[in-house]
Amino acid sequence: MQAVVLEEFQEPLEVQEVDRPEPEPHGVVAKVEGCGVCRSDWHCWQGDWDWFGYRPDPPHILGHEPTGTVVDVGDEVENIEEGQEIAIPFNFACGKCSLCRNGRENICENHIGLGFMNEAPGAFAEEVHIPNGDINAVPLPDGIDAETAAGCGCRFMTSYHGMAHQGDVGNGEDVVVHGCGGIGLSAVHIANALGANVIGVDLMDEKLARAEDLGAVATVNASEVDDPAAEVRDITNGGADVSVDALGIETTCRNAVDSLGKGGRHVQIGLTTSDEQGEIPLPTDEFVAKEIEFVGSLGLQPSRYSEMLDMIETGKLDPTALVEDTIDIHQVPEELEAMTEFNTVGIPVCNDFSS
Ligand SMILES: [Zn+2]
Ligand SMILES: [Zn+2]
Repeated sequence: MQAVVLEEFQEPLEVQEVDRPEPEPHGVVAKVEGCGVCRSDWHCWQGDWDWFGYRPDPPHILGHEPTGTVVDVGDEVENIEEGQEIAIPFNFACGKCSLCRNGRENICENHIGLGFMNEAPGAFAEEVHIPNGDINAVPLPDGIDAETAAGCGCRFMTSYHGMAHQGDVGNGEDVVVHGCGGIGLSAVHIANALGANVIGVDLMDEKLARAEDLGAVATVNASEVDDPAAEVRDITNGGADVSVDALGIETTCRNAVDSLGKGGRHVQIGLTTSDEQGEIPLPTDEFVAKEIEFVGSLGLQPSRYSEMLDMIETGKLDPTALVEDTIDIHQVPEELEAMTEFNTVGIPVCNDFSS
């Protein structure tokens, strides 16, 4: 089968012919129907994130935002059948550790990152293997078609968990999203659906226009003002209730924290880059004085997908609104190259792996 293979960090990616995956006893294999192209793929290609355990030894298949149709099932899988359409989280869980047994599979002790770790070759491929299929394959309801499902990849489900659970975004709250790439635009859309007044912050007018289309009530172009956080505090009469750093660079993280009012909650979704290497200095005394909370957010537990899928079925959420383009597997390398200059808007989804 064809797959996008990382042979050497930062060197051009190639589409290669590789062996099809075979299911482990607890695993299932899915034909990939769609897989979003994400900035996280770009980080992995650059060789970032060794401090996070997301630096595979090449050669390695990239891609972590798939949906698919089950084509092969391991002998010990009980609840997943061939032919089922499934959503596939990127952060595979073991189903056995205490976190998994307490509904926090997204931060499983034995976490395996799809497309980021050698244990889980990625999904820019005709087929992908999913370990512990009973836990990690999430059957899709009939009311969700393949195109919609393909929009539910990492950036959408990650943003859902960040806004609905970790940020606990409520009706009428002011939410500011710093960085309006795939994760950020998803967060804008989801926070809006949860009833918040959302402000988008970015450097590019096209991305801010997209944020407004997705429900942002105000936007700030950070390249046109001295202090984007002060602008946000002005717009919100003293500071946002919830801030999101969707990018993970020092500037956006700091601006997000500085955008908060007293009692605010910061949600960190973006992982840092090779500049920060996992650490960003923050105004800790202000956390004390303003009782600010700093909350991390990783993926979405499979056991809570149903909440998000219900909101999609009822039309409150529409993952297709973020899909910019559909592409074939040979276009994936150039899409990732374009991310080097940040000049991509919305999310391209690869939905043709055999051309
Ligand atoms: Zn576990
Ligand atoms: Zn992603």
